[in-house]
Amino acid sequence: MVRPLRFFLADFVLLLAATSGFAQQPFLPSERWIKLRDEASGTAPYENLRYLTRLHRVPATAEFDQAAQFVMERAREYGLAEVQSEQFPIDGKAPYGLMRSYLGWKVEAGQLWEVRPQHLLLGDWATDPIRLADYSHSADVETSLVDIGDGSREADYSGKDVRGKIVLADGVLARVQQLAVVQHGAVGIISDMPNQTTAWSGLDRTIVRWGHLDARALAGFAFMISRETAASLRARLAVGESVVLSAHVTAEVGPGHWTVVSAIIPGTDPTSGEIIYSCHLDHERPGANDNGSGCVTILESARIIANLIASGAMPRPKRTLRFVWGPEVEGTMAYLSRHPEIRKGLRANIHMDMVGGDPFKNKSIFHVTATPWSLPSFVTDVGAALADVIRTGAANYAESGEAPEAAVVETRVGDQGTRNQFLADVTPYSAGSDHDDYDSSTIAAPSLYLRDWPDIYIHTDHDTLQEIDATKLRRVALLGAASGYVYASLDAERAHALLPFYTAQSEMRLAQLFQRAQRMLDDPKTDTAAAWYEARNLMKQALRREIVTFRSLTEFTEATARESSNEKVLADQVTTFNGWIDGQAKARGAQGAEPKAPWSNELVTRKIPVRVGDFGPLTYQNDNVLKARLAPERVAKIRLLNSDATPLLNAQDLSELYAYEIVNFVDGKRTVGEIRDAVSAEYEPLPVELVNDYLEACNEAGLVQWK
Ligand SMILES: [Zn+2]
Repeated sequence: MVRPLRFFLADFVLLLAATSGFAQQPFLPSERWIKLRDEASGTAPYENLRYLTRLHRVPATAEFDQAAQFVMERAREYGLAEVQSEQFPIDGKAPYGLMRSYLGWKVEAGQLWEVRPQHLLLGDWATDPIRLADYSHSADVETSLVDIGDGSREADYSGKDVRGKIVLADGVLARVQQLAVVQHGAVGIISDMPNQTTAWSGLDRTIVRWGHLDARALAGFAFMISRETAASLRARLAVGESVVLSAHVTAEVGPGHWTVVSAIIPGTDPTSGEIIYSCHLDHERPGANDNGSGCVTILESARIIANLIASGAMPRPKRTLRFVWGPEVEGTMAYLSRHPEIRKGLRANIHMDMVGGDPFKNKSIFHVTATPWSLPSFVTDVGAALADVIRTGAANYAESGEAPEAAVVETRVGDQGTRNQFLADVTPYSAGSDHDDYDSSTIAAPSLYLRDWPDIYIHTDHDTLQEIDATKLRRVALLGAASGYVYASLDAERAHALLPFYTAQSEMRLAQLFQRAQRMLDDPKTDTAAAWYEARNLMKQALRREIVTFRSLTEFTEATARESSNEKVLADQVTTFNGWIDGQAKARGAQGAEPKAPWSNELVTRKIPVRVGDFGPLTYQNDNVLKARLAPERVAKIRLLNSDATPLLNAQDLSELYAYEIVNFVDGKRTVGEIRDAVSAEYEPLPVELVNDYLEACNEAGLVQWK
């Protein structure tokens, strides 16, 4: 039957509308996506954030607890279940998993004045708490100021008498405290330690960065000042002026407690595991993007889902959704340590740390961050596909002014939200927040880590509400709610239907890595035999990663018949790539049928390490398990962590990433050589001796045993 034209046109318009909201993601029926989208608010989290940014949220302080109280009240108001606040005692020693607890801090007052020759207030805790470095101790002194430059190297002190003085330094604060105060007898520090380096670093000299001292050190205080103020003081000292300061601090470092708030949306099947949302509620005032934004946004994701279930608009999913607000990393470890039954039931994590930045202000790009290669998981592709729906809708609206609803712009209150594009991408695993715990092998709850990076105002007094976009909050709250709802409701039937999608995603990733393998062999500086081995290893590890990614989906949904048709497709693709790699290697003069491992003759590489002892990764922001358990001389000999000893790894960050993954790849089956191959594909090729040497140190620290 030929239908009248006007019906045809109407259908066509409907089809377009549906397509713009749905076409690129296979996880949710479009009507559910639209319900989630319409429920999502940018104003609700924005207003909650307004409150949080008034609090100086240092962990284990009264104002942190005030923030926790606020989140708890909101969670109750939003209809979440089992809303509670738990306290975890801390004393600098008590362990939570592998991590030792840190310390609390109570402040009554903190003022720094220049008293001569000028009379000038340089910092006051009462009005501007960011000026007093965390874990400052009490002091009441009037003394002169000495410029010690960086202050984190012994050479900075030669020919200078700092005893009883206040030093001016811009080196890493805890290190300056150790040298200036503990070793050379200075009473305190004023610091203009620079922020994380970005292309914009140093351009705004009025920024004040927050700092923290080592809470376990017994003395010292520090005040934070801008680069502008520091430069002027340095110039005056340089021409021989005597600057006398008076510092008055009433503060106490000691035992205390961490507070963690949690709440749930119960699932229909308590045996099917839980999805956990995390953020970190701490950080110095204002801390709008880092990380007030993540806290209010998981709260908004919770509100969206809870409201839709309560009104009957969406069915209650099978798995329970749990929401946790606590101090960064430490709260996660404390909470999971006290609740092993929750830890064991975790199936996926959604972690938000900095998610609200207006990119045209704080220069941020929003990243959907993949799990590390040690924990390949389907969770990343869910977040990536849903983010892409928003990104496409936002781009279309920005360019044409059409379909504003698909752009998820916050327009409900005045002009609060922007009409910006959603500058979002997908990146490999990156370290530095609570997802490091969830992704680590002894917890193994694959994390969808959502984050802005860079943020030129991170950890400074400029990280304010003014840099936050209510539209962005709405978009990320929707992304969080939709991803969590997918994780909580996925079943075997849906998993089966996702086979073509995941196979195509895997094929794309394999093709990208094949190009990296080709570049290894193209590089004339590499040894042909070694490059051949590394290129083939890259493809081998990449194939394993993709197969485990899809299996993670079938295991998650407990699909009875394991899907294997895609594994053959991917293996065939890699066989083709390997043929081309071999041809390339032969053209460069490679000998033999197969490339040989550069370490195949070393017996040591056949050893198999096994994890023993408590759970958790080995490094935390205030603790390092190897440093806590081994003598300093022994730690200094760990080749992987001491960049001087390893010309391959000049960046300390990279060696920490290797260390994290080496331990994660320890599964009681892989040999040292196989672990070396796994981390070499994920990052860059690494000599096997460094892997063995690091695992030997872990063995001495009682973290791994040799099988
Ligand atoms: Zn953060």
